[in-house]
Amino acid sequence: MPDHTRSIDEVDEVIDEVFDVFPNAPITHDNIDVYRGRMERRLLVKRCRACDRYHEPPRSFCPDCLSGDVAAAPVSGAGTVALFSRVHTGPAGFGIDYRAGHPIAVVELREQPGLRLSGQFVAPDGRDARLDEPVELVWIDRADGPVPGFAPSAQEV
Ligand SMILES: [Zn+2]
Repeated sequence: MPDHTRSIDEVDEVIDEVFDVFPNAPITHDNIDVYRGRMERRLLVKRCRACDRYHEPPRSFCPDCLSGDVAAAPVSGAGTVALFSRVHTGPAGFGIDYRAGHPIAVVELREQPGLRLSGQFVAPDGRDARLDEPVELVWIDRADGPVPGFAPSAQEV
């Protein structure tokens, strides 16, 4: 959450903390609170306080009503698979095996139609995701920090 009462020293401390945990992440003013949430395994998405709509990727203003009153807000991470792909190339060194095809799901979160997040799809048997399949949030520990992923919903199995 943006906190306008933070001192410059406090802000510097937060930035240092986040960079320590996520040395490879493209941290910006718009997404730092989202990464800070990840440190505590809390999934946050930017939300407008004027119209209550979520938006992704993080921005400093609301793409729906253009208000600048936006803040990172918690979401469940539960939703349905909108897209699935196996990625065969990408940044090296993060504990990802591209040879087998790294499974990525784009998930429409239940909080809002059209609100989509992408992440690794983690199925116990390594299978592909199915379109419209219900999923839930899982946290994946990587050398460069915890990242949100999606697993088949326990209620569905
Ligand atoms: Zn808005």
